[in-house]
Amino acid sequence: MTTTTGGCYCGATRYALEGEPLRRTACYCRECQYLSGGGANYVMAYTPENFTWTKGTPTDFARSDLDAPRKRQFCPTCGTHITTVRPDGSMVMVKAGTLDDPAFYGQPENIIQTADAQPFHLFPEGVPASERFPG
Ligand SMILES: [Zn+2]
Ligand SMILES: [Zn+2]
Repeated sequence: MTTTTGGCYCGATRYALEGEPLRRTACYCRECQYLSGGGANYVMAYTPENFTWTKGTPTDFARSDLDAPRKRQFCPTCGTHITTVRPDGSMVMVKAGTLDDPAFYGQPENIIQTADAQPFHLFPEGVPASERFPG
């Protein structure tokens, strides 16, 4: 299997991915807007088995005011948000901007959470969209 690598802005926190992502998604939810710069959060879904931290230990954060908060993981040194983990731990969403070669992401296969989209957001043509999560 092909290994793809990435990490944070400062290089202290690094990871490796095995194979192709299960899905390439662009998420427009309000929570992601805080972490993306205001635009979509471009993420790739990997199972925990195919995601490995190879350098450093990320800082975990989950909001206490949400019913089923995602765990978001950051470089403790430079603060780069790298992954979002499902509440049950079954899936790791990896941010495309943290790849050593972000072009590996290609294009989103679906876009989600458009109910939270802002007037300045543009949606790619021909990509299936969901107001929240797909059915
Ligand atoms: Zn860093
Ligand atoms: Zn989101």
